[in-house]
Amino acid sequence: VGGRGYHALDAESVKAYAAGIEEIAGRLGTSDPGALRAREVGDGNLNLVFIVEGPASAVVVKQALPYVRLVGDSWPLPLKRAYFEWNALVRQAAVQPERLPALHHFDPVNALIVMEYLSPHVILRKELTAGKRFKHLAEHVGVFLAETLFRSSDFFMDTAKKKADVALFADNVALCAISENLVFTEPYFDAPLNRWTTPQLDGLALALRADRAVKVGAQEMLYRFTTKSEALLHGDLHTGSIMVTAKDTRIIDPEFAFYGPMGFDIGALLANLYLSYFAQEGHAETPDGRFAQGEWLLETAESIWSVFAESFARLWREERNGILFSRRLFEDVGDEVGATVGMHQFLQAVFCDVVGFAGAKMVRRLVGLAHVEDMESIADPDRRAVCEARALLMGRELLVNRGVFGDIFGLSCLARSIL
Ligand code: ADP
Ligand code: MG
Ligand code: MG
Ligand code: MG
Repeated sequence: VGGRGYHALDAESVKAYAAGIEEIAGRLGTSDPGALRAREVGDGNLNLVFIVEGPASAVVVKQALPYVRLVGDSWPLPLKRAYFEWNALVRQAAVQPERLPALHHFDPVNALIVMEYLSPHVILRKELTAGKRFKHLAEHVGVFLAETLFRSSDFFMDTAKKKADVALFADNVALCAISENLVFTEPYFDAPLNRWTTPQLDGLALALRADRAVKVGAQEMLYRFTTKSEALLHGDLHTGSIMVTAKDTRIIDPEFAFYGPMGFDIGALLANLYLSYFAQEGHAETPDGRFAQGEWLLETAESIWSVFAESFARLWREERNGILFSRRLFEDVGDEVGATVGMHQFLQAVFCDVVGFAGAKMVRRLVGLAHVEDMESIADPDRRAVCEARALLMGRELLVNRGVFGDIFGLSCLARSIL
């Protein structure tokens, strides 16, 4: 991927590029670059994203840059991440095509993916901040999580194929390293790129570095992140990786994909809902103006877990054809209970991971390098710091006490008690 022949595109050259690929030209309705319009819309931290419009339709062209866009060319990043993103998209599309943009083209030399232009879809994060609600979100995302995680696990997948796939994605070293460093490590020491709302949060941010319990918790979660090859993860499933309309939900941007613990994707998403929950008050126009939105966010987190667990249980019963919990040990000898007990124990362990990963993901968005728009868009620093301090408290609590939350409702109770 990348190497000789790679050219970073711009809003002009992307037109000739798109028009030059027969299949894409066909979709756009012209092979004349002059008949196309293009603009760069990437708002992410890493890549270029172009919308190219022709007389018949529009496509999105996403291209990796050889460095981190957020930081610049002083921080190189392998172009091969486009290959991992494409491979993850292909695997997710085999299971849940309705939750992804349609995939049109992959160009390994240019580290570039051409896909459906999602419209009128918008990024979920911004909508949550604006106080919008989406009634199908939890159902769509909960099923997506169960389907993609179960079907890439040893409960389902052919073991030779799974091991080969673990090996393929194990090479996504650079993007895993970003998570290993930015999520689990840097927030807890004096790393140069850390930042927070200062001076308001100085006390809390500095206290983390002397907080043995939270550091031990973060390291335990890092251990799980690096060693537990349970399922193919999206790897970056925050509310900026979900595009929505009132009726539809699509998941984009799985360039961080690798075989890791199921709880990481679920925890990442819940963390972002809880961050939004604590940010609401910073956007409220009247004192209780965002109360209902906050409650809806907690209910959504609850439903995502419930839908995930229910869908997972159905898959466990109906499609458990892999090496794990073989039917020969359970159902085939009349032990339905044994299979069910095993499933409940497994889901309880996933839930424990969800809690810990959610905690780590919250903390890092408050005192690490990359922050969330939900908080950043609260203009008044005093007001923002109040919201952030609450979120930080919850994140710490989830990391330290991740084993004591019996169920998802315990997390909602914790959030309410802090607000
Ligand atoms: P990055 O990896 O740099 O974060 P993303 O894949 O998240 O890139 O895309 C960045 C932005 O581009 C998204 O936030 C969204 O606004 C837009 N975008 C990406 N893919 C699509 C798509 N298929 N349709 C419409 N907009 C998209
Ligand atoms: Mg993104
Ligand atoms: Mg399906
Ligand atoms: Mg990305």
